[in-house]
Amino acid sequence: MDSDVIIVGAGTTGLTLANLLAAAGIRSAVYEAKAAPDTRMRAIGVTPPTLEILDRFGIGGPLVQRGVAVRRAEVYGDRRLLGSVSFDGIHSRYPFILSVPQTRIEHLLRSAAEANNLVRVHYGAEVVSVEPGATPSRADDNLRTGDSGLEPRPVVRPTGITVRFRDGRSVNGLYACICSGASGFRPFPVMRRRRYRRLFLIGDYPDTGRLGDIARLYFSRDGSVESFPLPAGMRRWIVQLTGRASRTVLDEATVSAMLTTYVNRRTGIRVPAGLPHWWSSFRPERHELAHFARFGMFAAGDVAHSMSPIGGQGMNTGIADAELAADLIAGRTMTPESPAVTSHTPMIDMVSGTRLYEKVRRKAGRSASRRAAASMFVGTVGGVPGSAIRNALLRAALTLIPDRAIASHFAMLTIPGHRSPLSFTARTISSRPQ
Ligand SMILES: Cc1cc2nc3c(=O)[nH]c(=O)nc-3n(C[C@H](O)[C@H](O)[C@H](O)COP(=O)(O)OP(=O)(O)OC[C@H]3O[C@@H](n4cnc5c(N)ncnc54)[C@H](O)[C@@H]3O)c2cc1C
Repeated sequence: MDSDVIIVGAGTTGLTLANLLAAAGIRSAVYEAKAAPDTRMRAIGVTPPTLEILDRFGIGGPLVQRGVAVRRAEVYGDRRLLGSVSFDGIHSRYPFILSVPQTRIEHLLRSAAEANNLVRVHYGAEVVSVEPGATPSRADDNLRTGDSGLEPRPVVRPTGITVRFRDGRSVNGLYACICSGASGFRPFPVMRRRRYRRLFLIGDYPDTGRLGDIARLYFSRDGSVESFPLPAGMRRWIVQLTGRASRTVLDEATVSAMLTTYVNRRTGIRVPAGLPHWWSSFRPERHELAHFARFGMFAAGDVAHSMSPIGGQGMNTGIADAELAADLIAGRTMTPESPAVTSHTPMIDMVSGTRLYEKVRRKAGRSASRRAAASMFVGTVGGVPGSAIRNALLRAALTLIPDRAIASHFAMLTIPGHRSPLSFTARTISSRPQ
């Protein structure tokens, strides 16, 4: 075997997995198609369960140092404050959602992985196939034939994984974890897919207002605007483009004009003139693979279940996938003699592990996807009557539902399986009196 675990994709999911495996004493090799790390800012919202997972290999705290803790969100409807939500008390260590660009998260994950001699990260290595290795087993031939006199049929048993690259090379591993993102290599067929018509434009600008570390959601009859603090005195604006704007070709001139116009029209706030430091547009899509785990192969992150970025859950869900995959592989590959095995390392057979992963991660992915779609739907209800009804319902919800329930929902603390059930088993066992 070239490696215990082969990981396809060096995004947040793949790099988290490599670090978690290394913390359990397991070797992995990460293969990334791009020649160099991704420079797109993309995700910014890191939830408390994700910070707990990152703490397992010591980078939760350092990441908090590099971000802005969002402790409060305000919701506006047609420029009037409908209510606010405080994240106080939702978590003992992390009572906030951390805002930090995905590039910084990936940088920290990559540095931790590269500093560990159990991990190798290879760039410029595009994977074209991942197949379970298969060798006929003689003992099984005899069992199958028995006294029946039938022709022996070789019984094929998986014996590891072979990964092939675009340049013709191949490597073998015990397990493969495919973390190749929403549009990368797919190990299994797509089961569900949905494309949304809504179009959103993102711009990251210097924060010239007085919004500080508060997140703001503006819902209007013409469309939504979301605004989040970023580190280093920056602020992100996410604007829904409607009508003719949603069919315009976006170039640098139209981008700055649209961001300036729509932010001002819907919020009354002026963003600085000129191009944002970083911009991007997206038309959300959602898909789910037919299988999440089979024959020692795990699909994790956006490749398994992509969802609308509105609601900020995709990256967090992928990191939670990585945690369960790592726990299953650790429980499976370790023998009681392995140095990293402690009294609380759960041991599990791979058939039960595969079923557990399918069940837990599919449920979590669907729950997060549904929430992301619902958040997007609520924010983008347009027109005068629709917007008025939405605003009235939101005002009532923000008044009647306790802050803690709403905040826990947005912090993904109520997603089923938001932490690996095996990590809980481990904690329960380790905290029992000896
Ligand atoms: C604008 C925007 C804002 C977002 N905001 C948030 C947010 O606030 N919070 C949140 O939780 N999520 C958010 N998301 C979603 C988040 O960015 C994704 O869920 C996250 O990047 C998924 O991580 P991943 O590692 O699974 O996939 P990716 O980040 O896509 O990484 C996959 C990697 O696999 C590589 N790869 C693909 N094919 C191959 C191959 N054949 N061989 C080798 N390597 C391959 C790719 O090059 C890539 O580097 C946002 C997304 C967007 C677009």
